[in-house]
Amino acid sequence: MHDVIIIGGSYAGLAAAMQLGRARRSVLILDAGERRNRFAHHSHGFLGRDGAAAADIAAEGREQVLRYPTITWQEARVTETRATAGGFTVRTESGEHSAQRLILATGVVDELPDIPGLRERWGQSVFHCPYCHGYELDRGRLGILASGPLAAHHSMLVAEWGGVGQTTLFVNGVFEPTPEELAELAARKIQVERATVTAAQGDAPGISLQLSDGRVAVLDGLFAMPHTRLAAPFAEQLGCALEAGPMGAYYKTDFAKETTVPGVFACGDAAQPGAAVAIAVADGTMAGIGTHRSLVFPKVAVAG
Ligand code: FAD
Ligand code: MG
Repeated sequence: MHDVIIIGGSYAGLAAAMQLGRARRSVLILDAGERRNRFAHHSHGFLGRDGAAAADIAAEGREQVLRYPTITWQEARVTETRATAGGFTVRTESGEHSAQRLILATGVVDELPDIPGLRERWGQSVFHCPYCHGYELDRGRLGILASGPLAAHHSMLVAEWGGVGQTTLFVNGVFEPTPEELAELAARKIQVERATVTAAQGDAPGISLQLSDGRVAVLDGLFAMPHTRLAAPFAEQLGCALEAGPMGAYYKTDFAKETTVPGVFACGDAAQPGAAVAIAVADGTMAGIGTHRSLVFPKVAVAG
């Protein structure tokens, strides 16, 4: 019986483990090795590691965390989680593990539209967030591929990193901006393209979009901002409530990052709408501390 099992050993899960290891708690980290940013070479915006390889930040974090003797790591995919008398049991392909507390740091999966060539360019010339990737495309020709009505708002944000008059919103048949949005887009010199995108081509840096009427749009970068889904089915299995985020659902948590199921904590992209390494690390740190405090000060169960 471990004190804590952490499912997901990327930025958020490792940050939680760091706090628990420093408090000498026994922790088992189970990780399937599919970081959300594994498609990108470099990571930006994480103070102290700006521009470092995304894989290096994770690997160095893991190395530091595993120096604490009470922390163990297993490369494994958890398929099932369930509450038991003394805590929780999780199942992997190779067996079962139990702990008093569970931390879900399993991240989200980006659901890219089914356009040929798009997925291969994810993280190279197709991006999710201008704060992470806008600076490097500074003042270039930028595109926004609509995934829903929020794309008008996203375009106005992304245009901050584009050249004047060089940002295009590809509505791609997904929605039509309101007259007010069209006026606002025009005022910001953002073009609206209504021909659908049939393919993405070209080698990074840069990307070309093949349009349904035969034209080709040449861009320095495309922001797709896809819908997301939780990477693992533990909310259903454990009965955790979710919040409906702007791009997809995430675990509802309190200030200490405890979900609506006592003893189950959640952090990182799976537990808040932000999508950045710094936010995942901060969230994981909070979850680690919150989980530790719940072990020190267990809530007294009140019979109903
Ligand atoms: P993740 O890093 O996604 O890790 C979740 C972990 O949980 C994975 O290792 C996964 O395998 C594991 N897992 C899931 N299910 C299971 C299971 N059933 N059993 C075991 N393990 C499981 N942010 C920045 O700050 N700067 C950037 O430059 C940047 N670039 C990005 C580029 C791209 C293309 C993308 C998509 C995102 C980028 N991000 C960037 C955002 C960043 O990747 C995420 O915010 C961050 O990875 C979230 O960390 P996390 O620990 O919450 O989840
Ligand atoms: Mg994690």
